[in-house]
Amino acid sequence: MRRDLRLADNPALSHACARHAQVIPVYILDDPGAAPWSPGAASRSWLYRSLQSLQADLRQRHSQLILRQGNSREQLQQLLHSSGATAVYWNRCYEPALRERDAAIEQWLQSTSITCKTFNASLWWEPWEISTTQQQPYRVFTPMWKHMLNHWRDPQLDGLPEPFPALLDAPASVPLDELKLLPQQRSEPRWDEAFYQSDGSDSSGAHWQPGETGAWHAFERFFEQALQQYQHDRDIPALTGTSKLSPHLQFGEISSAQIIRQLCPDGQPPTDKMINSFIRELAWREFSWHLLYHFPDLPEQPLQPQFANFPWRIDYQSDLARWQQGKTGIPIIDAGMRQLWQHGWMHNRVRMLVASLLTKNLLIPWQHGARWFWETLVDADLGNNSQGWQWTAGCGVDAAPFFRIFNPVTQGRRFDPKGDYVRRFVPELARLTDQQIHAPWAVDKTTLRQSGVVLGENYPQPLVDLQGSRQRALEAWQQMRSA
Ligand SMILES: Cc1cc2nc3c(=O)[nH]c(=O)nc-3n(C[C@H](O)[C@H](O)[C@H](O)COP(=O)(O)OP(=O)(O)OC[C@H]3O[C@@H](n4cnc5c(N)ncnc54)[C@H](O)[C@@H]3O)c2cc1C
Repeated sequence: MRRDLRLADNPALSHACARHAQVIPVYILDDPGAAPWSPGAASRSWLYRSLQSLQADLRQRHSQLILRQGNSREQLQQLLHSSGATAVYWNRCYEPALRERDAAIEQWLQSTSITCKTFNASLWWEPWEISTTQQQPYRVFTPMWKHMLNHWRDPQLDGLPEPFPALLDAPASVPLDELKLLPQQRSEPRWDEAFYQSDGSDSSGAHWQPGETGAWHAFERFFEQALQQYQHDRDIPALTGTSKLSPHLQFGEISSAQIIRQLCPDGQPPTDKMINSFIRELAWREFSWHLLYHFPDLPEQPLQPQFANFPWRIDYQSDLARWQQGKTGIPIIDAGMRQLWQHGWMHNRVRMLVASLLTKNLLIPWQHGARWFWETLVDADLGNNSQGWQWTAGCGVDAAPFFRIFNPVTQGRRFDPKGDYVRRFVPELARLTDQQIHAPWAVDKTTLRQSGVVLGENYPQPLVDLQGSRQRALEAWQQMRSA
């Protein structure tokens, strides 16, 4: 088990349970095998809780999750040897390093007498199942979405494996704590403690509950409380207007197929506007994985080759640090970066704003932003993250042009009109009015002082002049185009 930490609708597990009297569920933490994109700190903390939950679910079925650490092939070899197992089944991963590793393991198993079979447990459409009319991979989202609507696919689900074979003679397993998944340094946020709920009683969507049960709680909360207003509320960062299913989807605690089945039980494309709008976002995830599969350099290289020569700034370390710490002096940006640090998650609209500021106003290469997100997001997902950064940096994903540069003040006033989101994460500005809060530098000193704000002392001066840096970004873009 890897990115499929659930029991229901798990095709590899169902297949094994249907054909064998003994099934050994195995999780191998293989960091070198995933390099350079082995899970970041926030993801590891989620993974710890998710494995804990899966262990409990399996125990209830008189089975056990066998944990191992190290080279996947060596660990499998040992397990096969000690257990005498005759078959290995897994659900496919699509990250370039994992594909390469898994292909080598598959080839090795095929050269033995061990049966090996792989399945799809995480995508609605596998990347090779969909292409343009010229038989090319999609590079633009809308035509791919249209294709998905016109060739609607009703996902087939496996349900819970029944009966679930008890594991009588379990092989040795490493204790979960030995995997060292939780933060080791005091300076790291306690993602593992502060925001995790074990009983799922929270209905506000402010807490996380990793694991399959938590994923369904999150889906039910969204279905009952937010889906009916999704199209509007999904853009308002102060609201819990989105599903917050991203980490659950990333770890495969719930699948997009299960969600689509719940929302479209008649097997037809959605006619409801809100459901359509939500499934469209799930299709963006499909698009990201389609791109990553067909363009495996996506996490490192711009999709448009000319961006490899983009004139990024060279001396940007201290600006990068201020961006990471949420100390840019631009309120909605700081709110987003602090939400990321505290919750391991950031609202989509704000992800776009912070990424635009980093790559365009600050002219810092998008790969630095993507790496920081990778470390700090509980939903860090190589497809979505690489696609999201390249989309915002305007370097080739979809039809998003570079010259569309977000203005964080205008965006803040539009999507956080009462300043609630900023007040929540940047409390030092809480006493400014709704109009003032998104641009404190434009407020006179006396008013600022009366509101408890001294720029440069308890809240930073803005890191960049938004108009001037916008102009500089456009000039850099023109320089690249004329090179
Ligand atoms: C710079 C940048 C980096 C991003 N990095 C990641 C990442 O590492 N992991 C990640 O899951 N998403 C990433 N996204 C996409 C998006 O921000 C998150 O998926 C979304 O905010 C998750 O919240 P949600 O589950 O409440 O979303 P909802 O609005 O409830 O959407 C449901 C699901 O659809 C998918 N989805 C939604 N929006 C997008 C999108 N724009 N692109 C691809 N899939 C989408 C996600 O799987 C999400 O869980 C990134 C976006 C940007 C702009």
